This record gives sequence, structure tokens and C-alpha cells, in this order.
Amino acid sequence: MSLRVGLGFDLHRLEEGRPLWLGGVEIPSSKGCIAHSDGDVLIHALCDALLGALALGDIGTHFPHNDPQYKNKESIFFLREVNKLLKENHARIINIDSTIILEKPSLKNFKTSMAEKLASELGISPHQVSIKAKTHEKVDAIGNEEAIAAHVVVLLEVEP
Ligand code: MG
Repeated sequence: MSLRVGLGFDLHRLEEGRPLWLGGVEIPSSKGCIAHSDGDVLIHALCDALLGALALGDIGTHFPHNDPQYKNKESIFFLREVNKLLKENHARIINIDSTIILEKPSLKNFKTSMAEKLASELGISPHQVSIKAKTHEKVDAIGNEEAIAAHVVVLLEVEP
């Protein structure tokens, strides 16, 4: 059994009047992401972390943003596909840790539902999924509410 660590990052611009999806949960917000898909930065960073742990490229390799079949696709679809790759590669998730960076709204009341949603999609326990959130102290694009970002680290156990 070997251990593999993976790192993922994503950022999207925000625009008034769009839905805000994070971790497969719609968050009440006046702004949402400008994206080819639903712009779920947490799921995109998570997919990159999982793919990275297995050295299988990134989300753009598997789901090219210029491919019309992925237009307006729910990001949970990408996560389900990546989860199939984990199974094919005999990989098991030990834990996921994440940080979402956005100025508002507060995600305090949504972290549990995001962890539960991601855990159920991946077939793991919500206790294996950590979701943290913080602001960007009103500086730069994220601080000016023009963008949102997410960082994710995963640890996998892989059968030889
Ligand atoms: Mg993205």
C-alpha cells in the first residue's frame, strides 16, 4: 500500500446575478461564477487534487473547457468521473482538506452540507472531508468580491 498526496487550486471571476455553487451546494449569494461549467471552484480544485495524487493530469486534460459537451455541465459530473478513475486505479481517499477564499457570503452555515455532499458522492465519511473558509481581507480581486478561489489537498492510499 502506498500513500499519494495531491494538491488542487482553482479561481473563478464572480458576476452579479449568477448562481454560486460550492461543493455541489447552491449558496445564496448575489454573485456567482463566470465559467464554462457551473464554476464550482471547490469541486474543480478537488478534482485537480485527486487527479494530481495519481499523476493523471488535470481537470482540463479530462474535460476540455472548449469541448461543447461540458458546457454548463454540473461540476458534480466531473467529480463522479474522477471518482471512477480513483476506483480504476485502486485508490482510496484517506482525507480531503480544503480552504475556500471569498469575501462574502459567510459559508459558516454551509460547510457541513458541502462536506456531506462531497462525502456522499465519493463514498466516504463526512469526517474525512474538511472545509475551511476565509476572506481575503478586502484586498486584491478576491477581496474586492471580483473572484473566488479554493485550495484542496488530498491524501490517497493506493494498492500496488
Ligand atoms: Mg474552474
